[in-house]
Amino acid sequence: MAIVLKTQTFFLQFKTPFKIAAGVRSHTPVVFVKAQSGNYCGYGEAALPPYLKETQQSVIDFIQKISVADFNTAAELETEIEKLFLFQDTNYPAIAAIEMALWDLLGAKLNLPMNKILNIEKNHSPLCTFTIGMDSKDVVKQKIESAHDFEIFKIKLGVENDKEIIETIRTLTNKPICVDANQGWKTYDDALRMINWLADKNVLFAEQPLPKENKKDYLRLKKNSPLPLVADESLQTMADFDFVSEAFDGINIKLMKCGGILKAKEIIERAKKSGLKILIGCMSESSCGVAAASQLAPVAHWIDLDGPLLISNNPFDGVNYKNGKIILNESAGLGIKLIEKLF
Ligand code: MG
Repeated sequence: MAIVLKTQTFFLQFKTPFKIAAGVRSHTPVVFVKAQSGNYCGYGEAALPPYLKETQQSVIDFIQKISVADFNTAAELETEIEKLFLFQDTNYPAIAAIEMALWDLLGAKLNLPMNKILNIEKNHSPLCTFTIGMDSKDVVKQKIESAHDFEIFKIKLGVENDKEIIETIRTLTNKPICVDANQGWKTYDDALRMINWLADKNVLFAEQPLPKENKKDYLRLKKNSPLPLVADESLQTMADFDFVSEAFDGINIKLMKCGGILKAKEIIERAKKSGLKILIGCMSESSCGVAAASQLAPVAHWIDLDGPLLISNNPFDGVNYKNGKIILNESAGLGIKLIEKLF
């Protein structure tokens, strides 16, 4: 018998327009997936910001052509997941969505939370960053005040007034920050100058300072940067891994980029062997995608999983934040509950 897979398109609305070096957005297209076997079901999510090549339609097309055999154990499920990577037109967000729906379904069948199925100890979870997009001083101030529970802020840079943004932040808080330039510094000199300027401002790392194509500049920058460099756009698939491990100090792993939890675990193992620090991140995602990613939080050095806090129409419940940390739910599967009629 095959698992029944249903899809539903949706647009996650940002509470305030989200501005980064690449532009400003009001919403993010996503596709939710429901996997059903008899009376049991599980949910997954493919988040599709405009810089990904996949779209809602390509995700739906991919899901329509696959068939997943029913399973009752993690080993059987892993066999089914492996098959999803055998298609020529690998669609990582679609695979990530199906995979998390299948893990959620298995959790429901076994009545076990996902971290138990994956055998991940919950005894450690790093502090979660809270993202501050580019905004007026008043809005930034409001955001920082509303996020007083968080101990680390992630600041989006890579525009003309970067220094002003940081100076504004520093009039409001002394908490550690990490910066994400989203490829916004265009030359080696620009990037090094900014990173040197940031170095004594309680900054934990600089994410994706240069365009991913500037490979030689990255190698030089790593040698001279006083701050750790974290790869995000530079790490799209495992094919990028060798370069990234040479040119960066850490990697931002997102389920949408690598095709789900099993692949993320593989990358984490390789990253640990290479001495890379691990940041678990997300796109703009609802509690569904973030519940899946947060299963990996205990093995990360940093987590950037604040997606649900930045949107106003989250159709799932179950991801909670306390004292700047994500609290994993104890209920079955991903520990999420659908609170809107999507399917
Ligand atoms: Mg990033």
